[in-house]
Amino acid sequence: MTDTLDPTIDATKAEISRIRLRTQPFIDGQFRDAIGGRRYVTENPATGQPIIEVAEGGAADVDAAVTAARRAADDGRWSRRSPGDRKRILIRWADLIDGNARELGLIETIDAGKPVIDTVDLDMPETASCIRWHAEAVDKLYGQVAPSPEGTVATITQEPCGVVGAVIPWNYPAQMAAWKLGPALATGNTVVIKPASMTSLSLLRIAELGAQAGLPDGVLNVVTGPGDVVGEAIGRHPDIDCVAFTGSTEVGRRFLTYAAESNLKRVLLELGGKSPQIVFGDAGDVGRIAANVAEAIFWNMGENCSAGSRLIVHRSRKESLLEAIQAELANWPVGDPLDPGTRIGALISRGHMERVLEYIAIGRAEGARVVTGGRRILEESGGWFVPPTVFDGVRNDMRIAREEIFGPVLSVIEFDTDDEAVALANDTPYGLAASLYTQNLNTAHRVARDLKAGVVGVNAYSEGDMTTPFGGYKLSGFGGHDKSVLAHGQYTETKTIWIQLEPAGQP
Ligand code: NDP
Repeated sequence: MTDTLDPTIDATKAEISRIRLRTQPFIDGQFRDAIGGRRYVTENPATGQPIIEVAEGGAADVDAAVTAARRAADDGRWSRRSPGDRKRILIRWADLIDGNARELGLIETIDAGKPVIDTVDLDMPETASCIRWHAEAVDKLYGQVAPSPEGTVATITQEPCGVVGAVIPWNYPAQMAAWKLGPALATGNTVVIKPASMTSLSLLRIAELGAQAGLPDGVLNVVTGPGDVVGEAIGRHPDIDCVAFTGSTEVGRRFLTYAAESNLKRVLLELGGKSPQIVFGDAGDVGRIAANVAEAIFWNMGENCSAGSRLIVHRSRKESLLEAIQAELANWPVGDPLDPGTRIGALISRGHMERVLEYIAIGRAEGARVVTGGRRILEESGGWFVPPTVFDGVRNDMRIAREEIFGPVLSVIEFDTDDEAVALANDTPYGLAASLYTQNLNTAHRVARDLKAGVVGVNAYSEGDMTTPFGGYKLSGFGGHDKSVLAHGQYTETKTIWIQLEPAGQP
């Protein structure tokens, strides 16, 4: 796989070798070395080979970024521009991302192991469209005039929080950045953002395009470096007003501590999941359901917070659905992420692959049966590949049904009654997403209401689109309403102005 003869892949590799990668923190409108001068190596998950060295920032770099962001917030170079002006710059930025989608997508593929068909055709257009959507919305949102008594006027308006910190994961490096940057910047904040250490390259280039689009210096700052140094420094910084985090529940908890022990900054958390997919006895076409189920768990190698990792299926439908899922796997080839035919690329790192394989071993030891997959493949590539893996005979109290695996591993659990299905679905510490398949309208509405999850897909695996909020219940976090106009409220303060009018005839 590494020495391919495929002319398409060879041409793509030549194209990648011509890309100029950005590897330094972007602070106050400039790329500069990390203050401590340290660097670390970022690797290609599909080959295990180094790509390039990236600057390893520290607390001093976060300080410099926050100082720049604070200055930009206080002098109003961004917040006091009219919403229409901000909109124009952000839309120009989105256009530049679209115009450079191929380059950005290739960067994302080598850095994150994601299939090129996803990064170029999906992630980058979605990144641009997210920024554009929030930009277009921001000059169409009005404040309110309260029904206050005669002789008074009371207005309720939204103001930017000020300096927003953001710490994001490696599974959708560009898109997760856009989910934070779109609403935070559109509403007039300045931002200090830390990408995941393993996937910093695309965001650095996106920041450069932001400057080219006209984002003033200091409005967007990117600090690269390790989570327990740069991430913690953002979480604890006394001059950051709000912090948005996407990642594991464990680190999410830390952000609450950081805020509690520093300046009580607002914390927005979008965390893990163990999302159920319920297939009722009266569900529709089995082939269509199998395609949805496969997409829900195998898309992005299962490295997806809303992955539908528990298939809760009526006993009468299980065998036919399992057969259909296995047939559907023909549409999910695993391989070199640079190959346009690949739908499942490499897991993010050796450590993460070992964790996924350990869960597979745990599932076997717990008594579940591997129907397909279940071992490392393509070892000769040097990369971290695990094929779609399906466990049958899973009980909901097994660890593979309770803990987030974050890999292409599906647990199949049977049920007999509708109530049992809902109880199984809700029997999880998480509550991010869920889907259900039925042809009965009453079942659809009743169960969608009963599920404790922030997003429920009916006869679909869907997170909705940019118009709908995305965020979870329970250990999946709170306040994490990425997307939609609800996201704007997360990055703004509500202000009441109460005006007492002088009585008529007074001088
Ligand atoms: P983390 O939660 O550790 O990482 C997410 C982000 O937080 C990264 O930018 C990371 O930096 C940063 N971070 C790590 N430690 C700290 C800290 N102590 N203080 C502040 N920031 C920190 O996720 P992992 O990458 O380790 O993945 C572990 C598991 O988390 C996955 O297997 C999956 O179960 C879950 N996860 C969930 C995601 C989601 O979308 N909800 C996304 C990613 C992971 P750095 O990259 O430098 O470590």
